[in-house]
Amino acid sequence: MISLSRRRLLAGTGTLAGGLLLGGTPGRASAAVTPPRVYTRAEWSARPPSSPVTVLDSKPDHIVVHHTASGNTTDYSLAQAGRLSHWIQDLHMDTNGWSDSGQQLTISRGGYVMEGRDRSLETVDAGKLVVGAQTANQNSHTIGIENEGIYVSQDTTTMLFDSLVQTCAWLCVAYSLDPRQAIVGHRDYVTTTQCPGDVLYARLPELRTRVAAVLGA
Ligand SMILES: [Zn+2]
Repeated sequence: MISLSRRRLLAGTGTLAGGLLLGGTPGRASAAVTPPRVYTRAEWSARPPSSPVTVLDSKPDHIVVHHTASGNTTDYSLAQAGRLSHWIQDLHMDTNGWSDSGQQLTISRGGYVMEGRDRSLETVDAGKLVVGAQTANQNSHTIGIENEGIYVSQDTTTMLFDSLVQTCAWLCVAYSLDPRQAIVGHRDYVTTTQCPGDVLYARLPELRTRVAAVLGA
């Protein structure tokens, strides 16, 4: 509860890179940019990281959109979002040999937003960055969102895309980012990956426009 109210307060006082105050009064700004309900690691019973995560005092300058390349499930439940979070964490720790989930945030096909790497939520709230493992050579200045599914030929669910809009708006406020420049796809940095798939990648302009509209920019 304390965390949530802090996030709302933060959302109400955020500014864009250009210095534009979001909304008129703090009350109105809070209504305009409502942070998503992010299910914490404690809530989905994450494993502890195998070594402490690294937190930078600096903010990320880009938000990287990924797909998980897992199946396009029709199970839209919170339970599935929890299973997804565990599947990614196990894959990243046990198969990839990483210390923890690589991405900071995860969104399920049902639109549930889940905390990924340890301390992600607290660092967003503090305007800092926990270093992930989601975009090779770019992890010191980017924050990553894994979107459940594979979008090479099929589209996302509306629930997922709406949550992605809300999540990006929250991050843009927290980090004073302009969505028109900050939101990118994994393939913009790593040309050898199809991530986040042709269909979701083609919707990034729409995502930027919708986030900008939420911010009132
Ligand atoms: Zn990716």
